[in-house]
Amino acid sequence: MRIDVLTLFPPMFEPVLGSSILKRAAEAGRVSYHLTDIRAHTTNKHGKVDDRPYGGGPGMVMACQPLWDCVQAVEQQDPLPATRVMMTPQGKPLTQPMCERLAELPRLLIIAGHYEGIDERVVEELAPLEISIGDYVLSGGELPAMVLIDAVVRLLPGVLGHDESAFHDSFSPGANRLLDHPHYTRPPEWRGKTVPDVLLSGDHAAIEKWRKQQAEDRTSQRRPDLMKERDEPNDSND
Ligand code: SAM
Repeated sequence: MRIDVLTLFPPMFEPVLGSSILKRAAEAGRVSYHLTDIRAHTTNKHGKVDDRPYGGGPGMVMACQPLWDCVQAVEQQDPLPATRVMMTPQGKPLTQPMCERLAELPRLLIIAGHYEGIDERVVEELAPLEISIGDYVLSGGELPAMVLIDAVVRLLPGVLGHDESAFHDSFSPGANRLLDHPHYTRPPEWRGKTVPDVLLSGDHAAIEKWRKQQAEDRTSQRRPDLMKERDEPNDSND
């Protein structure tokens, strides 16, 4: 997969894309990252990419021209068709099924906005998939873009080793889209707390049954909405 990121702050991405699983995925050739500074595409002689909002009000608005030209230039760098994605608190909430679908695409072009917003006309012309990482507001789209990249790249084939497989994680198909069960490791006793006997029994069928029950119990307690979603699936939330 090729991932292009259009941002005003490319250096913010370097430590994240250059560490841990995201780095390993690139080294293994499963993904390539391409950071482009939107500012490099402005025709404004002072390098400006934003302006004051029509109608007044606080904050600055990212102008149409630099972003439009940047998208055109980046898309032409590779014949692979790009799916345009824009990070915005007003987008569709990011979910695991959505990450699974994005992980099947050949190329993502992610636009990380900044300031008060982006001129609506360029958003309309670019018609990106608008994605939110939750109902709260961050200062810029860089962290949301990194969240999206991490969630998608760990799903690419061969990125996680067998021991780290994403299939059984919370919200994933192997967990029935519920929360994951609790985990324990050595020692068998810590601060007077013991590990559930069944996990030490070696009885794989009993362990499987216990884990399934635990996952259902904690999902019912913590996220009853997920139990409801499992029983009455509704694709429109994906
Ligand atoms: N005025 C905008 C609004 O109320 O919808 C918020 C703009 S926010 C300060 C600046 C940028 O941060 C947005 O353009 C978007 O790229 C990013 N951003 C902030 N919160 C986000 C979220 N929850 N999900 C995705 N992107 C977000």
